[in-house]
Formats: sequence, structure tokens, C-alpha cells
Amino acid sequence: MKTAFFILFSLLILPMITHAQTAEEFAESWDKQHVSNILPSNVRHRDLQKYLENLKKLGIKVDEVGRSFANREIYQIEWGKGKTKVFMWSQMHGDEPTATSGLIDMFTFLQTNRDKLAWVKKLEETLTIRAVPMLNPDGAELYQRRNLQGIDINRDARNLATPEGRLLKKLRDEWQPEIGFNLHNQNPLTTVGNTPKQATISLLAVSGNPKGESYPAFERNKRICSLMIQALNKFIPEHIGRYEDDYMPTAFGDRISEWGTPVILIETGALHGKDEMFLIKLNFIANLTALQSLVDGSEARADAKIYENTPFNDSGNIYNFIFRKANIVNFAENEKPYSGDVAVNVERRRAEISAPTFVQDIGDLSAVKGLEEFDVSDYFLVHKKGNLKTGASGEFIFYKKTRKIDWKAKDFERMNEPDAIFANGKWIKSLSK
Ligand SMILES: [Zn+2]
Repeated sequence: MKTAFFILFSLLILPMITHAQTAEEFAESWDKQHVSNILPSNVRHRDLQKYLENLKKLGIKVDEVGRSFANREIYQIEWGKGKTKVFMWSQMHGDEPTATSGLIDMFTFLQTNRDKLAWVKKLEETLTIRAVPMLNPDGAELYQRRNLQGIDINRDARNLATPEGRLLKKLRDEWQPEIGFNLHNQNPLTTVGNTPKQATISLLAVSGNPKGESYPAFERNKRICSLMIQALNKFIPEHIGRYEDDYMPTAFGDRISEWGTPVILIETGALHGKDEMFLIKLNFIANLTALQSLVDGSEARADAKIYENTPFNDSGNIYNFIFRKANIVNFAENEKPYSGDVAVNVERRRAEISAPTFVQDIGDLSAVKGLEEFDVSDYFLVHKKGNLKTGASGEFIFYKKTRKIDWKAKDFERMNEPDAIFANGKWIKSLSK
């Protein structure tokens, strides 16, 4: 009888016994259950609306809470019925889309697992999460940072000239959440300190205190950042940075913290060789790690030093492409070749668009690294338009140094068939070995 009871007990209760989910388990959950199916940079307002319709079908509360300058709907998702109020918002910069898809996957996962997984049930009972995905739908539509008034919403916290900024403040003020998550993307060429490692995720616990004084909820947020770093380290070791906490009275992260909702800033960068879907997964892991830590108390035991010892972000250490030891022929000067490295960067565009490239730097670039580097010491490098200068498009033609070239030929490229061609960030005709 006892045995039978124990078996019954095990069958019924054991699956509901909670244990802290590991980062690997979050990753596996995302792999198996994510619903985002468009690269985030390709997601338009109407795509978000489709995602939100699906959340509603699952029984999640989604409300229109305001309108953008161009009268596009802005929505808020609400999940959970607990006392602890968590506020999240994404894409206040229109061309920073990763977290919007991350939120959709997170809420879908939470809703579909609340009766299956004890830790999700606990989350539902302990937290109420409200999230505004795509706060700047006009900017998202144009894939630009600013709203349609040309204002950076994240510098509008004092002036409140934008409908989007006023809405964000209203949603916070009326609800008074105890923690906020401000979700952005950073330049993909941001690095972890003075290294060539891309900062794939960067964090900041925002004090919002003009004098830089600490307080308990700020310390809590630093500990939560430590846990997110530990979780993300399983996937992107050495690719995590943090921002300096410089109080800016016009920035929402600072002001929302100051108004009583201490904010954690999560900035998604990039990782060379990984696509945008991988970045959604990292967001999913970071978000759930943070939320779980509020519920199971693990934040109280975490060590803020892990966050405090994380290197600050830096820039200017890496470029997208570097052509090493080129023999540059610049028709604007004369055809006498000179030696130098040439760096090319890629502008930020939607994934579906071939992004423009431009010459970032020319000269001895031995102090910096390229995400991709090419040894072109055996080649002459000629800009497609003949004049190599910074800011010019990243389009080059190459000739083997051993080749006799008529540099003065009219209709130059047609008269001198190139040995290799690079344009739009790729080799149209490859360098031969
Ligand atoms: Zn941003």
C-alpha cells in the first residue's frame, strides 16, 4: 500500500517539483518552442500584430495602450497574477529589434507551460509582467532609430515631446513597477573592453541616482545582472560587456530608475557567424534567468562582483573587413602604388536588404582587427570608381601584382579584366590562392 501510494505520489507530484532552471534548459526550451519565425530586423508593425494575435489566442492579455506619432497602435502584454510588478519595453529605437521577438517567445513559452512546469507556475503566481514590445513602431517601420518627429525617444524623458515617450512614462507612473527592463540593440562592432571580441550582450544596472549613491533595489539589479552574465557565459564566453552608469537626465533608463522603477538595460550586439535568431535565444535566456531569480530568491544569493568585474564596452577596436597589405592604386593621385591596409564597415539595415558598405579607414591598421581579414599583399587594390578615400563605397577590384596593367586606359575596368572583385560585403570574384 505504501509503495503504491509512493508511486502515485511520485507520478503526480514529482513532475511539479521545482528546481532552478539552468541556462542550458532555457536554451533547449527556446530551441524546441520558439514561435518567432522572422529575422527580427525584418519584423514590421503588422508582423508584430500577427505575433500578438497568436498570444491572444493563447489567452494572454494584450491591449492597445496608445498610438505613435503616425497613429500606429502601441501594445502592452500582461502575464502573471503575482504581487511583484515587472515592466519591460523594447525597440524604443526603431532599428533595434531583437528583444521584441524575444518577448514574444518568452510570453508564448510562459503561457504554454504554466500548467506543465512548476517553476513557470511559480512565476505566474509571484510576478505580474507587463511588456511593451516595439515602443517606436514608426521608427521600426522605417528601420530608423528615431521616431517620426526625428526625436530620439530615449532622450525625451524630460521634455516628453513624443507620444511614445509620454506613453512610456504614463505606463510606469500609473503602475509603479518595482523593476524595469529597457531592451535595446547596440552597434555590432561594440567590443568587450579593448579587445577584438564583439560585445554580443551588454548589461547595465541603472542607478538613476544623480549623485551615484547606491540603494537596495540597485544592488539587487547588479546581482541579477551577475546571474544573467553567468547564464550567458555558457553560450558567449568573453562576449559580454557592460556600460558605464553615467546619469543622463534626458534618458528614460535613468529617469525611470529615479522615479522608482530601477532599470536593467540589456543591449544586444552581434556575434560574427551567428544570425539574429541566435540573438533572440540569448534574450530569452537572459530574460528568464532574471525573472526566475526574482521568484526563487537566487538573486539574493548572487554575487554583484561578477557584474562589477565585467569589462566596459569599447569601440574602434574592430571593423567588418580588413584588406591587409594592399598595394593601393589611387587614380585621383597618380597610379604609383602605395602600401596600406583598408578597412570596410557595413551599415545597419534589415537582413532582407543588402547593406551598404563604406571605407572606414586606410593605412597601418595593425592595431585593429577585422571580423574578416584578407591578405592582399600579392594584389593591387583599386577602388571601383578609381578614388580610394574614407567614406567611399566598399567596392574594390584587384589585380595580381605580376600583371602588366594599363593604368591610363579609358574605361579602365573593361580594358583590364580584374583578377578579383569585392562589393556589397562579399567576393563577387574570389582571390585566387
Ligand atoms: Zn537603443
